[in-house]
Amino acid sequence: MKFLITGGAGFLGSHLIEHLDGEITVVDDLSTTKFQLPKGKLIKERIENFSTNEKFDYVIHLAARPSPEDYIQHPVETALSNSLGTYNALEIARKSDAVFLYTSSSEIYGHAEIIPTPENYWGKVNPTGIRSCYDESKRFSEALIMSYYREYGLDVRIQRPFNVYGPRLREDGSYGRVVSRFIYQALKGEDITIFGDGNQTRAFLYIDDWVEATKKMLFTKGLKGEIINIGSDKETKIIDLANLIIKLTGSKSKIKFLPPRQDDPPRRAADITKAKRLLNWEPKTSLEEGLIKTIDWFKGEIK
Ligand code: UDP
Repeated sequence: MKFLITGGAGFLGSHLIEHLDGEITVVDDLSTTKFQLPKGKLIKERIENFSTNEKFDYVIHLAARPSPEDYIQHPVETALSNSLGTYNALEIARKSDAVFLYTSSSEIYGHAEIIPTPENYWGKVNPTGIRSCYDESKRFSEALIMSYYREYGLDVRIQRPFNVYGPRLREDGSYGRVVSRFIYQALKGEDITIFGDGNQTRAFLYIDDWVEATKKMLFTKGLKGEIINIGSDKETKIIDLANLIIKLTGSKSKIKFLPPRQDDPPRRAADITKAKRLLNWEPKTSLEEGLIKTIDWFKGEIK
């Protein structure tokens, strides 16, 4: 089995690679990662610029800058990896007649009006707002991928992950996502920074559950052209997440409320009926269990 994994050195990719058997080639510009690739051959290149005559059985397109504070500082690069990059990855898959798996995003739903959100909800996205470089290009990727399916019959599969967290999720600077940042702040005794009043919600998915779902999406037959939410249907308020992390770490950190993020989706959770039906999958790790494992990992990282 030969796998080409774009963005394979990042948080999701590095975990997935550990659970794949075969010959792994990773194309990654290392723009957002700070860890070593666990295994496989690394080609340091942007996916838009990568070319090869090699053939692959699976092309897994993960390359993206997913952290909102980070991508709004790199809007052009963000939009290009999610458009030209997707085009390039699709062409490589088409020449190989490979299975093409895309990690899209729950961001494509924008300010969803149906919670938990099913795959057939079309989304409510600001097409020119500061998050549009990410949201709209992810949406374009999906449209292009479905065009390859319809025009060339390519075996494409699209997953929409919802707020995956776990060991190796970056906490630093603009890369920091909410779970890793709060854990780091709690362990260091720093203020926990909540944007807005903390009543906005997300549904968090532990990395091991994401890996299991992704392997099922790769290796289950009959998924050609399917789009599947990979997430949790359990909505958590950001303020409740902060308090849970303070409790689990035994931290003395205080909560500090900062101005809300512009265009921050107010609510997010996944309807996973389709994942249950097609993949026989649902998350096994509770938020508390996943946080405890992630906190343990961060304790080992913070000296
Ligand atoms: N958030 C927060 N403080 C932080 C980082 C994030 O309150 O230091 C909030 C953010 O406003 C959003 C949620 O946590 O409502 C998730 O943010 P994240 O950047 O992890 O990803 P998103 O789901 O917005 O893509």
